[in-house]
Amino acid sequence: MSNFSRRSFLKASAGATALGVLGVPFIAKGAGAKVVVVGGGTGGGTAAKYIKMMDPSIDVTLIEKNENYYTCYMSNEVLSGVRTMDDIKHTYDGMKGHGINVVIDEVTAIDPEGKKVKTISGEFAYDKLVVSPGVDFKYDEIEGYDEKVAEEIPHAWKAGSQTVTLRKQLEAMEDGGTVVICPPTNPFRCPPGPYERASQIAMYLKAKKPKSKIIIQDPKQKFSKMGLFTQGWKDLYGYETENSMIEWSGGDDSALVKVDAATKTITNGFGDEIKADVLNVIPAQKAGKIAFDAGLTNDKGWCPVDLGTFESTIHKDIYVIGDSSVATGMPKSGYAANSQGKVTAAAIVAALKGTEMAKQAYVNTCYSIVGKDYGISVAAVYELGKDKEKGTPKITKLSGGLTATDASAETRAREVQYAYSWYNNITSDIFK
Ligand SMILES: Cc1cc2nc3c(=O)[nH]c(=O)nc-3n(C[C@H](O)[C@H](O)[C@H](O)COP(=O)(O)OP(=O)(O)OC[C@H]3O[C@@H](n4cnc5c(N)ncnc54)[C@H](O)[C@@H]3O)c2cc1C
Repeated sequence: MSNFSRRSFLKASAGATALGVLGVPFIAKGAGAKVVVVGGGTGGGTAAKYIKMMDPSIDVTLIEKNENYYTCYMSNEVLSGVRTMDDIKHTYDGMKGHGINVVIDEVTAIDPEGKKVKTISGEFAYDKLVVSPGVDFKYDEIEGYDEKVAEEIPHAWKAGSQTVTLRKQLEAMEDGGTVVICPPTNPFRCPPGPYERASQIAMYLKAKKPKSKIIIQDPKQKFSKMGLFTQGWKDLYGYETENSMIEWSGGDDSALVKVDAATKTITNGFGDEIKADVLNVIPAQKAGKIAFDAGLTNDKGWCPVDLGTFESTIHKDIYVIGDSSVATGMPKSGYAANSQGKVTAAAIVAALKGTEMAKQAYVNTCYSIVGKDYGISVAAVYELGKDKEKGTPKITKLSGGLTATDASAETRAREVQYAYSWYNNITSDIFK
């Protein structure tokens, strides 16, 4: 990796891990305290497990509406046929083994004054509450598109049945067909995700249906790891040549305005109509519904938090992590949610015990697999700092960097193996 101090990265990561696992010694003061976690995904799962590991005397209840968790990370490989849904499925058995009370139910209300959580079939009192419900979608911003239409024209931005639908549509498409991908406006879950998706679909089409095309209609003029993605598209898919498999255009003119679901035709900001054989509309996003219902969101639809602890700045004793939170300085990613889960676990355990919280580090690495043996990544280690201009708290990058543009073929192939090893590590960190 160029532009990247590996030594400081490793030092800070090691610090973060050590703090995450060992930072708070067991003291009986927090014993019997009740922590409830809403959402057993990446953020919530991490927080539940780390609270229990830091202090086994705390009573931790994790409430999750689905029986199993399918990771969004590597779900683009399901679209290309490299993985199956079973390969990205995780159960809650490991968490139960740590002594966490796992409840499969949907949280319907949070009472911040009474410190209670209501579910479809019960009620849970808490001393501290962690909320990590992920994202929901702004369906009302695109004419002709809504939650029902999304079943046929899947966003597949939550791994699950829509991922399967989109894969089936790609498999059924004839050679010579057109796939249209419409990424969302900022901010959204997994900034490199739509472009990794285009790459994975291109890899599949190149092998099985080489006359096909992918058109990306992006409302943004630039996107995450843009230089590395476009370089990969040039190396693998003829990008910017007459025979390019991928065409990208960005800016207001390329923003999605209207969907005609019956004909799979979109209209962009320029008024152009583009007909797709497979259409993937990824709508703009907001915090998970329960965060709105609990009054945890700001006027932009996300949850403001104290960046040192992730405690809501609206409701005391409620901590919001993951995609729903305004973690200024960090992207909305799984690794960020995992890192925030550890910071909030340390904050909650310290608060329950009445001890001082150790200084935390925050980490994020995001791998994208552009094609066979062709991986790229962006990595960063952060600390709690201040925005230079506004003086407001900001999670500030200490060190980090991107895959070098002149990386060798061997390095690119190794990045794919790093991506797979990252996946195994993070899922075992949360679910085992
Ligand atoms: C295609 C794609 C690729 C991605 N690739 C990467 C990657 O390579 N690396 C990376 O770091 N990140 C990646 N991400 C992003 C990552 O998946 C998210 O940032 C991460 O899952 C956020 O964690 P979270 O806890 O906020 O939400 P989630 O992991 O979505 O967890 C939320 C959980 O809350 C549950 N829930 C919601 N409401 C309720 C309720 N009322 N009651 C009970 N349960 C509830 C949901 O069922 C869900 O299980 C990718 C995302 C996508 C879409």
